Amino acid sequence: MLLNSIKEIKSEIKNWRVKGLKIALVPTMGALHEGHLSLIKKAKTECDKVVVSVFVNPIQFGPSEDFEKYPRTLEADLKLCDNEGVDIVFAPNAIEMYGKNKLSNDTLTYVCPPYFYADKLCGKSRIGHFDGVCTVVMKLFNIIQPDYAYFGQKDAQQVLIIKKMVEDLNIPIEIIQCPIIREHSGLALSSRNKYLSEDGKKNALVLSQILNNIKGCYKKGITDIQALKETAYSYLTEKHDLEYLEILNKNTLEEDKNANINSIILIAFRIDGVRLIDNLYIED
Ligand code: AMP
Repeated sequence: MLLNSIKEIKSEIKNWRVKGLKIALVPTMGALHEGHLSLIKKAKTECDKVVVSVFVNPIQFGPSEDFEKYPRTLEADLKLCDNEGVDIVFAPNAIEMYGKNKLSNDTLTYVCPPYFYADKLCGKSRIGHFDGVCTVVMKLFNIIQPDYAYFGQKDAQQVLIIKKMVEDLNIPIEIIQCPIIREHSGLALSSRNKYLSEDGKKNALVLSQILNNIKGCYKKGITDIQALKETAYSYLTEKHDLEYLEILNKNTLEEDKNANINSIILIAFRIDGVRLIDNLYIED
């Protein structure tokens, strides 16, 4: 069932609550692919009712980012959700979510995650991105009041920040983190892959290659973080515009001296002007 209004979805969910049903939320920006579907499938096996939100959230995009051209494929998304037995697709527009005059920093209440987690990695180039993410996720949590919410490790910094928000603000929702789904080539699925040319897609393989190579070097005994990062240079050509490559503690996003069982390798690239991110735990 497709619902666009907050009032309608609240009243539908009220009925579920009365019956004591376990409710899952899978927040997305649409243009659904197998990565999103893996979250939905897991939610279906663990909960009685599954809500998928489809909302390209304007306040998490910077002024020079791809908000306008972000792929919007609601008809196809609805079919995919139907196939998976999703109970409600919640697809509000920006006015429904934020009101007519509230899309400004001056008049909207924001949920702002701590600088320590939000200003590094993706937050360094995407100023205010995680304020926008936390604000919309908090709104979705309040509207839907799910028992469980499903997020992908694909956006590792995002899920860590959401977990922190839930903990710090005592939100009674359990966050479930799901593994990254990849193409056979190793490329992590992303709605933004749609922007890539055939050549761009080949060049994009460098992300997973660098991650796997660092993991391989670690397995051979190299733990010095600088040395591990330097192994990436041989993969880079002028086609690759590296934004960051970091090896951090997966639970705290702190820099350890040496890579260890808790390390995560995170990478962001621009290929054909398309910003792609990926990550890998250094140990399984
Ligand atoms: P998005 O629509 O890009 O905001 O993503 C919605 C959710 O799907 C987020 O929790 C993402 O981390 C997750 N997701 C996106 N791509 C993948 C993937 N390749 N594998 C697993 N989860 C993913």
